[in-house]
Amino acid sequence: MFEEYSRFRLIVRCLLWFVPFVLAGLVFGQLAWSLLAGSWILILWHYRQLSRLANWLWNERSITPPNGSGSWEPIFNGIYRLQGKNRRRRTHLARMLSRFREGAEALPDATLVLGREGEIQWSNKLAEHLLGVHWPKDAGNRIHNLVRHPRFVRYWNKREFVEPLELVSPVNEDRMLEIRVIPYGDKQRLLIARDITRIKQLEEMRRDFVANVSHELKTPLTVLQGYVEVMQMTAEPDTMLAKQYGAMEQQSQRMKNLVDRLLVLSRIESATDIDFEQQVDMPAVMERIEKEGLELARESHQLEFRIDTNLTVYGDEMQLHSACANLVQNALRYTDSGKVTVSWALEAGRPVFRVADEGEGIPAEHIARLTERFYRVDSARSRDTGGSGLGLAIVKHALSHHNSVLQVESTVGKGSCFSFELPPTLHVVRNKLA
Ligand code: ADP
Repeated sequence: MFEEYSRFRLIVRCLLWFVPFVLAGLVFGQLAWSLLAGSWILILWHYRQLSRLANWLWNERSITPPNGSGSWEPIFNGIYRLQGKNRRRRTHLARMLSRFREGAEALPDATLVLGREGEIQWSNKLAEHLLGVHWPKDAGNRIHNLVRHPRFVRYWNKREFVEPLELVSPVNEDRMLEIRVIPYGDKQRLLIARDITRIKQLEEMRRDFVANVSHELKTPLTVLQGYVEVMQMTAEPDTMLAKQYGAMEQQSQRMKNLVDRLLVLSRIESATDIDFEQQVDMPAVMERIEKEGLELARESHQLEFRIDTNLTVYGDEMQLHSACANLVQNALRYTDSGKVTVSWALEAGRPVFRVADEGEGIPAEHIARLTERFYRVDSARSRDTGGSGLGLAIVKHALSHHNSVLQVESTVGKGSCFSFELPPTLHVVRNKLA
């Protein structure tokens, strides 16, 4: 058992040390000399203990301190106890760290801990296979010096990590990665790269399958439609047979519309590489949409177009036309009577398209799901108006290729407003002097 520190014991020891020197001083009548001798001996003894302690701290390898005696014993023991405590804490921390590393190594994704400027502080094994980062060789190197793809460098420099980045692996061109950067702690960042090659392949297979099926259905449908038309012409008007042919013609037309829509959707979905050098004459596109809209509009509709005739943008004409036309057609189809206002103008430096109607409106719980394929608020109503349930899915994909999203505001019974804004970088700024 260690002797513990006690101030009382320390004082008593000091006093007891001087008792024999006081007595000797009194006996020989030399009290002052005797006390001086006692003090010198005490100082020398303390120096010896101090030198033993310093020697142990600096020169000895043993973890147990030398045996202290007297008032030095609690000090030697205290240091020993402190050392034990630190050792236990260090072991605990090392164990926790190695458990964390084992966990991070077991992750199915490449994981990197990055500093403020992207310097690599730690990475797991998978980072070597997916990103070509070698640990510990690349410790301290900046990530954008190792992953040099311009899209990654732009993504990193922008410092907006809300959306993940899809990138071809710098090590293997056949691998597609989804990169996420998560800021944490004191300006640190966790970079996670997930291999999404299989998901991408499946997505592509699904897209190809839908496109192929739609394409294959087109020819037999056209043949059927042709025969139905001929039969309709030969049937006596107002007979049961004429009605049945009429229904057949209507349904085959619906199927044709659906197939056409599916083809448009898969074409837009797979056209991810937009040539942003191309200028789209949006006022001309709006003119076309207005003409198409007037054909669809009924007498109870007032269709109004407010177009900025100078507002041209960079993008894909077919996709932008498709997105705007679908929104205008929907506004007309879901408005029994009232005003439909279409506007295309610059708002705070961004090109904005907006369609407001005075139609039936959409209950709030449906709004988030409107752009899903085949999602309809009222299937019967959609079918009656010739809807396929694919219009807004087409809009969503066309807009996402232009870095934009569809905004929907609606009040049941009052009407809806569908809008989107394009990034200011897509606005074609004309040189006024030219
Ligand atoms: P559909 O071909 O059925 O119109 P969409 O994808 O274009 O398919 O639209 C999905 C659903 O969103 C529609 O079925 C309809 O219920 C609702 N919707 C779309 N536009 C409007 C609108 N302007 N007013 C009311 N409801 C709308």
